[in-house]
Amino acid sequence: MEIKSVGIVGAGQMGNGIAHVMSLAGYDVMLNDISDDALDAAMTLMAGNMDRQVGRGKITAEEQAAALARIKPTTTLSDLGQTDLIIEAATERETVKQAIFEDLVPHLQPHTILTSNTSSISITRLASRTDRPEKFMGFHFMNPVPVMQLVELIRGIATDEPTFSACRDVVARLNKTAASAEDFPAFIVNRILMPMINEAVYTLYEGVGNVQSIDSSLRLGANHPMGPLELADFIGLDTCLAIMNVLHDGLADTKYRPCPLLTKYVEAGWLGRKTQRGFYDYRGDMPVPTR
Ligand code: NAD
Repeated sequence: MEIKSVGIVGAGQMGNGIAHVMSLAGYDVMLNDISDDALDAAMTLMAGNMDRQVGRGKITAEEQAAALARIKPTTTLSDLGQTDLIIEAATERETVKQAIFEDLVPHLQPHTILTSNTSSISITRLASRTDRPEKFMGFHFMNPVPVMQLVELIRGIATDEPTFSACRDVVARLNKTAASAEDFPAFIVNRILMPMINEAVYTLYEGVGNVQSIDSSLRLGANHPMGPLELADFIGLDTCLAIMNVLHDGLADTKYRPCPLLTKYVEAGWLGRKTQRGFYDYRGDMPVPTR
């Protein structure tokens, strides 16, 4: 089955990146959010990000204009029912995602494939709430979507082969690389990455190092392109905490317990770059460590 149109639910950090790469690859995109402001911000951000790509000679101004014209923002979820592939990229909370899929189902075409960009929630469980578990899978982009090469493709227990190969073909058309993962908590990338970030927060919490020394240790001592706390701010501390909770609950091993300091930052609403404050304060010209 050839995918021609894509519906994206959630126009936040990930949703706008997914709309960006899909529209440049020639797909017609319907972008949905509950918030008009989020949709406006996403359209402005995509135009700005594409301006930079034009400036660097990566795309032409004509390609930019054509791509932006292919994206239709909408606050009406049922509009997405006419698309061939839906990628849900709303807030990382299972009840939110379940409600979205339940609302979508009555409006779908028989062939529409449903996917979630979730970082950690069970694909099999989300699929079971729909009328098409065999046409349901995980489509997990990395942040920032236009830059990162990998897409994890996650089969639920019922996902059929035509669904998997249709999604693999989409990844190829985006010029990205797919890695296939089985449906266990947090899949591959976050199963490995998030405990490292959580351990960095414990290292901060226990006073072994401060924000700066922890980040420069991993950057210069392990050759990571970004320190773990910088990366956590980039991902969003609420998303990091949600993933640790899924690992803790799903694997029932205390080694995955979220650091209380991570919880405290989330309770403060210091969620990282998206709220201008997390392990760093981004309100000035340069990021300033908050500890
Ligand atoms: P975000 O907070 O930036 O954006 C979430 C968006 O979803 C918001 O604009 C919000 O208004 C919208 N939303 C909430 N409820 C909705 C609903 N019922 N219908 C439509 N829109 C709704 O979050 P994000 O970082 O873009 O993460 C989105 C998803 O992508 C999560 O599942 C997350 O785990 C996953 N993800 C995130 C990253 C990352 O690095 N941030 C990486 C890979 C995957």
